[in-house]
Amino acid sequence: MKAYRASVLYFVNPAQAVFESDGLLVVGPSARGLQVVQAVGSYAALAPRFADVPTAHFPGRIIAPGFVDMHLHYPQIDVIGSPAEGLLPWLENYTFPHEKRFSSPEYSAQAAAFFIAELLRNGVTTALTFATSHPASVHALFAEAQRHSLRLITGKVLMDQHSPDGVRDETVQSLIDTEALIQRWHGVDRLGYAITPRFVPNCSAAQLHGAGELAARYPDVWIQSHVAENKDEVVWVRQLYPKARSYLSVYEQFGLLRPRAVYAHCIHLDDEDRALLRATCAAAAVSPTSNLFLGSGFFDYVGADRAGFQYGLASDVGGGTSFSPFHTMLAAYCVGREGQTKAGVSLGPQHLWWQHTAGAARSLGLEGVVGNLLPGCEADFVVLNPQATPLLARKTAQAGSLDELLFALIVLGDDRVIEQTVISQAGNVAGVTV
Ligand SMILES: [Zn+2]
Repeated sequence: MKAYRASVLYFVNPAQAVFESDGLLVVGPSARGLQVVQAVGSYAALAPRFADVPTAHFPGRIIAPGFVDMHLHYPQIDVIGSPAEGLLPWLENYTFPHEKRFSSPEYSAQAAAFFIAELLRNGVTTALTFATSHPASVHALFAEAQRHSLRLITGKVLMDQHSPDGVRDETVQSLIDTEALIQRWHGVDRLGYAITPRFVPNCSAAQLHGAGELAARYPDVWIQSHVAENKDEVVWVRQLYPKARSYLSVYEQFGLLRPRAVYAHCIHLDDEDRALLRATCAAAAVSPTSNLFLGSGFFDYVGADRAGFQYGLASDVGGGTSFSPFHTMLAAYCVGREGQTKAGVSLGPQHLWWQHTAGAARSLGLEGVVGNLLPGCEADFVVLNPQATPLLARKTAQAGSLDELLFALIVLGDDRVIEQTVISQAGNVAGVTV
């Protein structure tokens, strides 16, 4: 066992944080061999029980759950920050040409190494990410994540139509490849597979049907896709499926809405769609920096909470403009405030933080596993320095409440705040397969 003494932040209820200003986090091996939280609370209360446990002391620092990024694209590390007229030209001019390179295992391996280093540098300890349509891209990322003992979920992109040579796949083979990748990687160490239809326009009906069959056969495998990001895209789907009630209902008709199904964006929905997300237990990956960058629209938080479906935050790199959870939380605040196209709301700092940690984990079906520091959670955490920049130091020194402290970090923070990222390694039993 090992203990960490610092301020400690964790969540007890949705959007309700606990902050122990002089706290103790005790971690030790679980029955499965991973390091998990054994106890968390105030130092004064816990220290006598754990007096023999070696304790690292981080004065002035905050230990918080590692961040959970619900949606991004690892092959788009070189697409970030590319100028375009909107989503569809951006895909054609930047994204697809870059993704073609991932047919090479060597190219994929170096990109995977860079990507995971960037996640960790930004305090992201769990990610649900797209790969490309090439199985090599998936093997490379899983292998790299396994080396870091990271809890990572990815999958081969399904895209058999309306896309150029070099990224387009073949219907039957794409489904064979998907099933082989599920069998090779899903549930190995901390890795999970996600069936990954890119979005309705890129997938034939036969491919979506096959994806739905696999989703039924492997119910604990994830599903990830995009829905209702952009109005041009919504019109395109209406042309492809004129009889469908909505864009989202196309996924339903192919069996692709269920628990562990995660849809990025979910902007241009109506209340019937929102009720469908709730009824099927599918979740939304809110991607605010991407939506602002590409001018796609504003996620309706009031509508989401009225319907009661699950959601959490995502960077959506490379449509998104930052790997930093602080930048994403700030953008989510701005998106919430927008009140011209929907009801505006001022999201509280604890709620924003929860959306990128425990709330995102819950949306992924990983509540009590990651995204929090309650006993039993896997010990993925970050050590934050609230004095990382002169302005942050000045501002956080004046914080009179937890909300003021967290909001200062959200608005002014970036990768410099992340002093350490600690991943739950296999403890006394190395290399255990779960
Ligand atoms: Zn995306």
